[in-house]
Amino acid sequence: MAYIVENKICQNCKKYFTIEPNDFGFYEKMGVLPPKLCPECRSQLRLIFRNERFLYKRVCDNCKKNTISMFSANKTYPVWCHKCWRSDDLQGKDYALEYNPKKSFFEQFNELWQKVPKPALVHMNSVNSEYLNHTADTKNCYMIMESSNNENCTNCYWIQLSKDLTDCSFTNQVELSYEVDDCYDCHSLRWSKGCYNCLDSFFLLDCRGCTSCLGCINLREQKYHIFNKPYTKEEYEKKLKSFKLDTYSGVESFKKEFADFIKDKPRKFAEITNAVNSTGNYMKNVRNNKHCFHSYDAEDNAYSIHVWREAKNCMDCNTAGRTAELIYNSLNIGMQCANVICSYYCWESNFMEYCLNCPNSNNCFGCAGLIQGSYCILNKQYTKEEYEKLRVEIIEKMKKEGIYGEFFPKEFAPLGYNESSVMDEFPLNKEEALKQGFKWEDTSRGTFGKETIDWKNFPDSILELPKDFDVNKEVFVCIECEKNYRIITDELIFYKRMNIPIPRNCPECRHTRRFKNRGPNKLWHRKCMKGGCKNKFETPYSPDRSEIIFCEKCYQQEVY
Ligand SMILES: [Zn+2]
Ligand SMILES: [Zn+2]
Ligand SMILES: [Zn+2]
Ligand SMILES: [Zn+2]
Repeated sequence: MAYIVENKICQNCKKYFTIEPNDFGFYEKMGVLPPKLCPECRSQLRLIFRNERFLYKRVCDNCKKNTISMFSANKTYPVWCHKCWRSDDLQGKDYALEYNPKKSFFEQFNELWQKVPKPALVHMNSVNSEYLNHTADTKNCYMIMESSNNENCTNCYWIQLSKDLTDCSFTNQVELSYEVDDCYDCHSLRWSKGCYNCLDSFFLLDCRGCTSCLGCINLREQKYHIFNKPYTKEEYEKKLKSFKLDTYSGVESFKKEFADFIKDKPRKFAEITNAVNSTGNYMKNVRNNKHCFHSYDAEDNAYSIHVWREAKNCMDCNTAGRTAELIYNSLNIGMQCANVICSYYCWESNFMEYCLNCPNSNNCFGCAGLIQGSYCILNKQYTKEEYEKLRVEIIEKMKKEGIYGEFFPKEFAPLGYNESSVMDEFPLNKEEALKQGFKWEDTSRGTFGKETIDWKNFPDSILELPKDFDVNKEVFVCIECEKNYRIITDELIFYKRMNIPIPRNCPECRHTRRFKNRGPNKLWHRKCMKGGCKNKFETPYSPDRSEIIFCEKCYQQEVY
């Protein structure tokens, strides 16, 4: 069947959006109705179902022990600690409902969803690690979110196959690094972004194959460069020392100097490398990715964020990878997954539709809190034949109602808007969120005014910390939001090893700053700013941004 581009008005924000022929092909393949919401509103609706980073103390509703949870203690539904939720105590089928064709599917799902226990945290294969959420294969880590295969990392978000990191995000195979974002195959980097194969350097932006460099941008295969100028090894070492990057004041003043240096340097229209027929930002080794952000080793995906490592034919996904194929309108699907529609946290699961928290399952429809389920609808067990018959019946009814392929209604979200991942992408204040029909969580996170540290009298250099400084006894205060925070022993050991000052803002403010620095997951049509060049592209740099944006060809002529 031949499709044409269709312009539609989003039923939520009333803006125009287009459905391309390829999109229609995908919807047909998945058997879902074309969406009535624009890609952004679709994404917003999904993201309110996931809390990645905000953790609370609460009691497990099964073993009654204290635990850490992504759900605050005042929530009305049962929450079980990670251990209980993954034990035989959880019998998802005990909550089964008999499907009633006279009632709406969503209404019945919500009845199940409200009573089935939710996992306090989502992680697997974790060794000697605390405060993990949406992680797998983690060893000796602390406060790690949306990550897998990492060791000895603290306060990181979306890192893979990495080791000895603190305050990093979006890294792949990076080691011994601090405040690094969007880096691949690097070692010993500090305050750097968009680098591949770099070593032992500070303040690098979009560099490749550089070693022992400081404050450089767009540099290729160089050594001993400062502000893109070459030095001898001895000169470099002397100058590096003179910037005093072991002190808080030295780092802050270098940040300003570097920001000034890069101001008039051209940027590539998007951070995409080896991307064939693809649009988006932060992509590496991808093909036919449309409107994707943070994607690598993936192909044929669209309107998705974090689709990686053999993600194929994923549309409208937030985090799909480690082999994920034919996934639609879902979050956190991966590890040998295929054919998943409108679901969340179904790892190692196949042929799943409208399922939340159902890992290691297959052929389930409208299930929740079910592990190793098969041929279940609303958590009730059916034979294969019964399942297939009833599934078709429900889908037919949902299609008649025009909702098959739509994510769950926003009222079902188990979280406040302000504690879900949506805040990174679509921030709203309480008033706006409530007005738009979202929930809000008023439980306070953290304390204020309990600090034992006074920054005015705190040593400027990490080398000047008193010998008897016991970090476990100290409560720090964020200079941005004034919230208290702690620093764990391993973190302090890391700062000392790396010769970097203790951060003076809380982990949340550090994350937010790195996230903002990445720019929005949006694209604008613009043209190359190099004189005489007429090349056009889709770029995450909005027209009012001050950066100089070049097309691929003009950018390549600028790199050294
Ligand atoms: Zn919209
Ligand atoms: Zn428990
Ligand atoms: Zn803060
Ligand atoms: Zn150009």
